[in-house]
Amino acid sequence: MAKGNIGVTSDNIFPVIKKFLYSDHEIFLRELISNAVDATQKLKTLSSVGEVKGDLGDLKVRVTIDKAKKTLTVSDHGIGMTAEEIDKYINQIAFSGAEEFLNKYKDKTEAIIGHFGLGFYSAFMVSDKVEIFSLSYKDGAKAVHWSCKGDPEYEMEETIKAERGTDIVLHINSEFETYLEDSTIRSLLEKYCKFLPVAIVFGKKKEWKDGREVETDEDDQINDTNPAWMRKPADLTEEDYKKFYHQLYPDQYDEPLFHIHLNVDYPFHLTGILYFPKIKNQMDVRRHKIQLYCNQVFVTSEIDNIVPEYLTLLHGVIDSPDIPLNVSRSYLQSDQNVKKISSHITKKVADKLQEIINDDRAQAEQKWNDIKLFVQFGMLTDEKFYERAQKFALFENTDHQFFTLDEYKEKIKAEQTDKDDNLIVLYTQDTDANYSYVERAKQKGYDVLLLNGELDVHIISQAEQKNEKLRFVRVDSDVVENLIKKASEEQKALTETEQNALRYSFEGCLNNGDKTHYYVNVESVSADALPVFLTQNEFMRRMKEMSAHQQGMTFYTQMPDQYTLVLNSAHPLIQQLLADIKSATDAEAEPIEKQISEAEAEENKLREEQKQKKADELTEEEKKSVDDITKKTADLRAELKKVYEKHATEEKRIPQLIDVALLAAGKLTGESLAKFVNRTVEMM
Ligand code: ADP
Repeated sequence: MAKGNIGVTSDNIFPVIKKFLYSDHEIFLRELISNAVDATQKLKTLSSVGEVKGDLGDLKVRVTIDKAKKTLTVSDHGIGMTAEEIDKYINQIAFSGAEEFLNKYKDKTEAIIGHFGLGFYSAFMVSDKVEIFSLSYKDGAKAVHWSCKGDPEYEMEETIKAERGTDIVLHINSEFETYLEDSTIRSLLEKYCKFLPVAIVFGKKKEWKDGREVETDEDDQINDTNPAWMRKPADLTEEDYKKFYHQLYPDQYDEPLFHIHLNVDYPFHLTGILYFPKIKNQMDVRRHKIQLYCNQVFVTSEIDNIVPEYLTLLHGVIDSPDIPLNVSRSYLQSDQNVKKISSHITKKVADKLQEIINDDRAQAEQKWNDIKLFVQFGMLTDEKFYERAQKFALFENTDHQFFTLDEYKEKIKAEQTDKDDNLIVLYTQDTDANYSYVERAKQKGYDVLLLNGELDVHIISQAEQKNEKLRFVRVDSDVVENLIKKASEEQKALTETEQNALRYSFEGCLNNGDKTHYYVNVESVSADALPVFLTQNEFMRRMKEMSAHQQGMTFYTQMPDQYTLVLNSAHPLIQQLLADIKSATDAEAEPIEKQISEAEAEENKLREEQKQKKADELTEEEKKSVDDITKKTADLRAELKKVYEKHATEEKRIPQLIDVALLAAGKLTGESLAKFVNRTVEMM
């Protein structure tokens, strides 16, 4: 029997393995099985070039548990190892610069294992003792038994082993007895080995017989050795892709919408299949679904640094030996291969969507709402994707027709260009709430988009930034006559006194609170439009909507909703009301109005005079005289306002008109609605 010391320059690697690799001990199984698969693949290669003759026999890799002996064994029928090879590959571990490296990557299990080829040694994370029984394929080779108890000493001797290949026997440490449980091992095998290229067998298949589960003679194979992504697209049907999707995600019942088969040889190697899942809303988003493999060995489903964030909404597999797995996450982001892979995937995804819209427009439209969130997320976060997505991102109108932005611009150009040459896109976020606005816009020959997606408000801001002279205006933000301002028409405006009479009367009847604030505006719109209606400032509303999803933008969210109550002075009802207000209030209002205009005239005069002088030449007295007159005007105005307000409390038409405007905008509820109903009955 040979005895020796494991050849590492650092005194002892075992404490290192146990300490640093502590967190992720389950990967030992992946490492041992990968070695077994490699040894089997090597044997197949040797056989294919004629270096190994004859039938290779059973090549399955077997995992077995012996509960009584507390051992877990991984057996293969691969190339095996001679004593010299064990000495070279197992005993002599190249461990130069170990200290330095270990300090640097203290927390990165994978990095340490990968860097040092410590795959085999990871077995010591969970074992008190590890044994190797191996018989090399080489002619005349003698079987070897190696064993080591987790210290730098090992024993090696000749043994008897009938079959070619290697058995690795782990004497599981009492702390890790979970690795002697069938269920633990099965779930690890399913996680890491599901698509390995060599059959992995764990126990026998079971079946139900006479009311209980019994073992059959058939091996229970864990993996599919030829997964769809390794096959040629030409050999796969639509059904095969769907089947594979469910193989990847056994608990996912929805069918995927489309798939993309990736296959790149240059300048890096990458294969894989990506699926577009149905994404209805952000709540539904299940991230980290793409599984990353390295030569069919599962590595991780955390791929944030490998593909842009929006692509993590996709499902599927990526298999690449060129993604450096054993390095830190921040390093990954700057890695050139990773960057190339990422932009390649972006391109492929965009190409696929473009292809669908070119070749099967109906399908693209039908599925648009399911992939919209994904596409928009990509457009908002990835400039390159935005450029491509321009040509396939769709907008849906209220008649459920779909357009790309360019198509839509063309459609509305004639009717919806305003006097300043801006193209005005009208939209609604809720066809029910905006029903009357949408109808009126349509009657006028305008088209209205339906933008009710979670990211739509961001998408329209982006479209406005990228397209000069393109404006999005919500259909209820003004009366239809004002939505798209055509060449200015002569408007019969009211005098300022008349406007004030109306404004003050209505202001007195509006309830302004913390949540909503109403402004009153008098405009000569059209005799056909409603006498009074509500509009909402597009900019403020959108800022509020956008900031609702963003942290640190509470400023806008805390502002009250702002509406403008437009009094349409072209409408006969408003004209009649104004005449009635005037005759009822003139006796009181006129003298005040006269005083106001006198005070204003005096104020203007004073200001004119003082403009001639420099600020520091003004005496305190002069300054005060302006302040006094300003205050006087303000007081008079307040007085005037009171006159109108007092009158308004007796004038039922005013609250009635306000309520009609609120009702049309869907904002009349609760007590206000009940009051409106009662008042209407009274007035009739
Ligand atoms: P790596 O697999 O990363 O090279 P390991 O420590 O896991 O590092 O293995 C070291 C070497 O030992 C392998 O490269 C291989 O030559 C040999 N080896 C390990 N397991 C087996 C096996 N089951 N059959 C044949 N050779 C093996």
